[in-house]
Amino acid sequence: MKTMTQDIIVVGGGIIGTSCALALQQAGQSVLLLDREAPGAGASSGNAGHIATEQVFPLASTEMLLQLPKMLFDPLGPLSVDWRYLPQITPWMLQLVNNMRPKANKHSADALSTLNRASLTVWRDLLESINRSDLLQEKGSLLVYEKPETKASLLKHIEKLSAYDVPVAHLNEAELHEQAPAVSKRLLGALEFPATAHVTDPLKLVDALFEAAQQQGMAYSQTDVTGGRLTEAGVELETTDGTLLCKRVLIANGAYAKPLVQALTGVKVPLETERGYHLMLPNELDILPVAISSAERRFIMTPMQGGLRLAGTVEFAGLEREANMKRAMMLQQHAQALFDRPLNTEGSKPWMGRRPSLPDSLPVIDRTGPKGEVLLAFGHQHLGLTQAALTAQLITQLYLSREPTYDLAPYSLSRF
Ligand SMILES: Cc1cc2nc3c(=O)[nH]c(=O)nc-3n(C[C@H](O)[C@H](O)[C@H](O)COP(=O)(O)OP(=O)(O)OC[C@H]3O[C@@H](n4cnc5c(N)ncnc54)[C@H](O)[C@@H]3O)c2cc1C
Repeated sequence: MKTMTQDIIVVGGGIIGTSCALALQQAGQSVLLLDREAPGAGASSGNAGHIATEQVFPLASTEMLLQLPKMLFDPLGPLSVDWRYLPQITPWMLQLVNNMRPKANKHSADALSTLNRASLTVWRDLLESINRSDLLQEKGSLLVYEKPETKASLLKHIEKLSAYDVPVAHLNEAELHEQAPAVSKRLLGALEFPATAHVTDPLKLVDALFEAAQQQGMAYSQTDVTGGRLTEAGVELETTDGTLLCKRVLIANGAYAKPLVQALTGVKVPLETERGYHLMLPNELDILPVAISSAERRFIMTPMQGGLRLAGTVEFAGLEREANMKRAMMLQQHAQALFDRPLNTEGSKPWMGRRPSLPDSLPVIDRTGPKGEVLLAFGHQHLGLTQAALTAQLITQLYLSREPTYDLAPYSLSRF
């Protein structure tokens, strides 16, 4: 067994783990980061890059319930369940349905909006602190619509959002086309979210945080954490490089966190993965000024340094099953319908990643264990990029035993 000298081991080098590692280093703590592949190898490299502060409503909604039967039969729909995975996902789905009750739904929306409201400011500060503000484009985003009947539901959505103080405005056809001249003249209007942003390259963002943390003294090792236990001496982590003994650990390995959480806390957390896809169009640079989502087609197009990223869809198929890249390819057809000229799809690249999701759509941000030796930051579902910098701030406060900026009860492990 090797005794580690660092103050804390962070397991998982995604956007959550690297943000936390950097914030802890900046707070004067010494960190050893472990990842079994490479920083950014998971969901964090391929996400849509949208700082989605406007997304304050949980996945569980009555609208989703209505779509469930279709989900089971349409493998290319925006939401789908691999029927072979149905027995495993059913208990999680039942908990999701339970969270559709108005009180539970409001609890999740309140807690999501608490995090989202502060997220962009904390990102701005974190990136400024490492001189990488260039990675963040604070230009807002648009949600466009094609059908006249969608307008009424979006106007209702504005009312719901205003209850959460989400800045939003309706743009008519002319205003939309003035803002985004390349989109199809068939589009009828949009909602504009001025307090949102996008990052120009999610993998470069992880790399930038990782490098900054290393410059501040963070150590890194590529190793797979296969188990762990709490002992009198500290936290023992089983890894492919042998057993490591450390004082504290932060579990931040995204969709794969469940076994380690159970080993170190005894809690069997209902963590599932919502698989999502993207298709990168490297030749469509600068076609859009901001990230644009489609209300009807339920996907997003984000202008990035490496081209236009088409991203979205939710697929319940577990951690092991291979990707169904037809789901990524179908994004191309949806995107094409939003432009009048043919998109250049030469060299397009599909990708699949695993969102870590809990049935109440809230992450776990907590500190536990007999001596507070286990910190937890996982389960950020569709909002891991958005909430990473704030999560890092909150984890640092928990680590330093400071009063957290917000009441963290909604994000506690003990809710399970
Ligand atoms: C298609 C798609 C689009 C998305 N778009 C957005 C968006 O626009 N905005 C937004 O806010 N969010 C978005 N998300 C969600 C966001 O990407 C995730 O919430 C976020 O990346 C989760 O980060 P993470 O660090 O928890 O997990 P990950 O990025 O998956 O990182 C986990 C890391 O842990 C490592 N690991 C796993 N197990 C072990 C182990 N046992 N030992 C050592 N290392 C281990 C992995 O190698 C990986 O590097 C999107 C997700 C997808 C799939």
